[in-house]
Amino acid sequence: MFKKILIANRGEIALRIQRACKELGIKAVMVYSEADRDAKYIRLADEAVCIGPAPSVASYLCMPAIISAAEVTDAEAIHPGYGFLSENADFAERVERSGFQFIGPTPESIRIMGDKVSAKQAMIKAGVPCVPGSEGELPPEPDRIRRIAKSIGYPVIIKAAGGGGGRGMRVVHTEAALVNAVAMTKSEAGAAFGNPAVYMEKYLQNPRHVEIQVMADKYKNAVYLGERDCSMQRRHQKVIEEAPAPGIARKLIEKVGDRCVAACKKIGYRGAGTFEFLYEDGEFYFIEMNTRVQVEHPVTEMTTGIDIVKTQILVAAGEKLPFTQKQIQTRGHAIECRLNAEDPFNFTPSPGRITMWHPPGGPGVRVDSHVYTNYFVPSNYDSMIGKLIVHGDTREQALARMRTALGETVVEGIKTNIALHRQLMVDAKFMEGGTNIHYLEGWLADHSS
Ligand code: ADP
Repeated sequence: MFKKILIANRGEIALRIQRACKELGIKAVMVYSEADRDAKYIRLADEAVCIGPAPSVASYLCMPAIISAAEVTDAEAIHPGYGFLSENADFAERVERSGFQFIGPTPESIRIMGDKVSAKQAMIKAGVPCVPGSEGELPPEPDRIRRIAKSIGYPVIIKAAGGGGGRGMRVVHTEAALVNAVAMTKSEAGAAFGNPAVYMEKYLQNPRHVEIQVMADKYKNAVYLGERDCSMQRRHQKVIEEAPAPGIARKLIEKVGDRCVAACKKIGYRGAGTFEFLYEDGEFYFIEMNTRVQVEHPVTEMTTGIDIVKTQILVAAGEKLPFTQKQIQTRGHAIECRLNAEDPFNFTPSPGRITMWHPPGGPGVRVDSHVYTNYFVPSNYDSMIGKLIVHGDTREQALARMRTALGETVVEGIKTNIALHRQLMVDAKFMEGGTNIHYLEGWLADHSS
């Protein structure tokens, strides 16, 4: 097992990984930017290294600074968390070339899955059902683009091969708008992701976002840890996640789960990963794979009792998966609310000093957060200040626990989206379960006046 791991991230996930290290008896090295210098979780680490000024490009995205921090502290492995460099194949390669273990899949897997066009092609080959769409990247000729759209049928969605974080997508309803939309998405994708390639998919009208968590080792053992429903989204960004997905037959989940496991074995995947699907009319359609731990991993940890971050570390160290598919049992229901420093209804970020932080507690309540009273939320990074996760025997009990937990939570000094979560937890449709990916946006529009 590793003796020392460097955590190349910040905020709640850096703290989450640090906790896993401590449980495993591994020393944790934290890197931080000048904006995070005073954060308490930095002081909890065995060692900490400042890697640069506040802007991410000069710190959390700066590969040489992170690799030299690993060198000077004698770390053996680097955990990238999510976001930042976690899905950067060049980074994974540089980490391994410098003699460290990257806690994640191989650079080749990251590269294939990081390009959504090659990811889809790999999934089609592995027998995973995909959203109908163009065979690979769109050609430059307008006539051919029109022909492809016609054969798929409108509405279609143009997506950037290198896109992520809900950006680089455009829905097209008519042929008249098509060619221009493709050109605009291409130029935006080139500027934002350094890759102008775009592809086309059928735009599903009322799908749900349901994803499968997988875990694999170096010896081609792979399992799935059930599914998560992440349909409550705003601007393609997840706001609430839960497990299991309400109202979907277990048999169907098992079938898709088995396909994902087979795909992992086929591509030689190792570590934690998520296959994201859209689910509509009883069918699953693959959209992309995330080759890292996800923000919403705790709901799966709560329902399976498996520590995903610890397992990531174990398999990166070359150990076999400590469980088989048969040994994985899911129990009860878990819900996660992402807590963001932002206006609850117009979503403008609200960085600044937290003058009062009172997290909730009680049975089945988990708070993953790095903040505390007097913590300063920097404006340089995303606005998530933590996650509130609850578990109950049933979805109803989980909802009741989430309502109680949200009721107990006090955050003062900055604005947060807690008020939004409180309203959603008593919303009749959400309480029924199975809302689609457009539900939250529609709800927000109805409640905006
Ligand atoms: P990103 O990598 O930016 O997260 P995804 O491909 O995972 O992009 O898509 C993010 C979200 O965009 C999905 O959860 C869904 O809400 C919407 N979306 C993506 N593809 C489609 C599609 N073909 N039809 C309808 N909605 C889609």
